[in-house]
Amino acid sequence: MLSSDASGSGPIYVAECTTCGDASEGAEDTEAPEIWSLQHAGRTEHTGFRNIDTSFSRASLVEGPR
Ligand SMILES: [Zn+2]
Repeated sequence: MLSSDASGSGPIYVAECTTCGDASEGAEDTEAPEIWSLQHAGRTEHTGFRNIDTSFSRASLVEGPR
């Protein structure tokens, strides 16, 4: 059984430049990656970004016949 894991951190948001592959640090909200994207675009004139949202799940082993 697979359920979403709320015991650790929440979803992690990262922005990654599709031109050079540089990426922001992981953040728990979308604001920091958005700011990073704008700053990166201003610095490099790279304008394409992939927004990565990582969330966590946890498997639980269920006892039963095999
Ligand atoms: Zn770039």
